[in-house]
Amino acid sequence: MNIFKFGGASVKDATSVKNLAKVLKHEEVNDTLVIISAMGKMTNAFEKIVTAYLNKTSDLGKSIESVKSFHKTILESLFENNNHSAFLTVEGLFKQLTHFLKENKSADYNFVYDQIVPYGEMLSTKIVSEYLLDIGVENNWLDVRKFIKTDSNHRDAKVDWELTENQITQNIDTSKLNITQGFVGGNEKITTTLGREGSDFTAALFAYCLNAESVTIWKDVDGVLNADPRKFNDPILLNQISYKEAIEMAFYGASVIHPKTLKPLENKLIPLKVRSFENLNSKGTVVYKGEDIVPKVPCFIQKENQILVSISALDFSFILEHNLSDIFQHLHKFKLKVNLIQNSALSFSMCIEDRFNTFEDFYNTIRSRFKMAYNKNVTLYTIRHFDATSKSKIENNNKVLLRQTSRETVQIVIE
Ligand code: ADP
Ligand code: ASP
Ligand code: MG
Repeated sequence: MNIFKFGGASVKDATSVKNLAKVLKHEEVNDTLVIISAMGKMTNAFEKIVTAYLNKTSDLGKSIESVKSFHKTILESLFENNNHSAFLTVEGLFKQLTHFLKENKSADYNFVYDQIVPYGEMLSTKIVSEYLLDIGVENNWLDVRKFIKTDSNHRDAKVDWELTENQITQNIDTSKLNITQGFVGGNEKITTTLGREGSDFTAALFAYCLNAESVTIWKDVDGVLNADPRKFNDPILLNQISYKEAIEMAFYGASVIHPKTLKPLENKLIPLKVRSFENLNSKGTVVYKGEDIVPKVPCFIQKENQILVSISALDFSFILEHNLSDIFQHLHKFKLKVNLIQNSALSFSMCIEDRFNTFEDFYNTIRSRFKMAYNKNVTLYTIRHFDATSKSKIENNNKVLLRQTSRETVQIVIE
């Protein structure tokens, strides 16, 4: 059996949902498990609801209405009959959401987030499943919370592999077409999420547990390109990359594949295909063992909105192991992601990502013990398989704040 994953862009409107059905028919899926993300930018929209709800701002009603009307528009163009059960299903989900908002007593952002944002995935999978049934494509809708079992670390839940494997292998009929949600998990009691863009990881989890033949991630691009097409002109399609190369790319922040996706697939040698849902004749990219990268071209990864921090001791002594340990404990505590580190005699620099808005707290905690300077809003470029031309493409006309080079990779921080 195979695993398909469809991201937000592949279900962004009614036409896309119809196209998804076309893809399934074209690929002649029977024994396939399909994982779907929230429609279009709905995860962002639900995040707005969370913020408005917790901050008790006046736009809460408006935020909910806009999400409702987005889904209603899609329903209306998918189903001619206004009495179709899909309308009731969607209404039921919004009722559940309203009920939660009314009854909830918790002010914990991460907990509340995990109870609200997964509605995006619940809605999209219900709509797609109902649409497929409507056009005669039999399928089973599955509630992923019964299968992907996690701890209670909200918004970044860790998977309990053993429990998850048991649930999946014992309760899924793999001879059927199954439809379920990405990104979402559950513990005994409550809904959790695996982190933004986590649906790719969901696909890998199911593939691993079911010993799938392959995973296909369907995208609005031809496959994995050597650069983000939104930021670079004329990116080149990579036909083949090794797991190791893909892990490196994801590690450095290539957003096309979620970093946690690759290891489970590599462990069982399950190929990962990245294909275009718009261009079914294109073979896309295959991630498998073997050659690092075909064709061998430099690959660019751009991470914006980084903070370049430079730390030195108050008494101008060296930054040594005990200082580093202190600094890293706090980075961990404040969930700051370090994307680059460089140590010199008197200072220690790092490029960090403030994912949870905790940088100020980190700064205030550390600054009594260290001297600290920082530049906000810098961009970190990583070039894999770099050469002189690719390097100067980034460095020319930009102010380079820091550069770090290894055999295959150069990282450049630009103001
Ligand atoms: P999904 O709908 O699966 O969540 P995303 O929007 O997260 O898809 O990712 C697809 C987008 O990623 C593409 O539209 C493309 O603009 C962008 N992207 C960034 N880097 C790359 C890359 N190296 N190769 C292909 N696409 C990339
Ligand atoms: N819908 C979630 C997000 O946008 C998960 C995903 O699409 O992978 O982050
Ligand atoms: Mg995505």
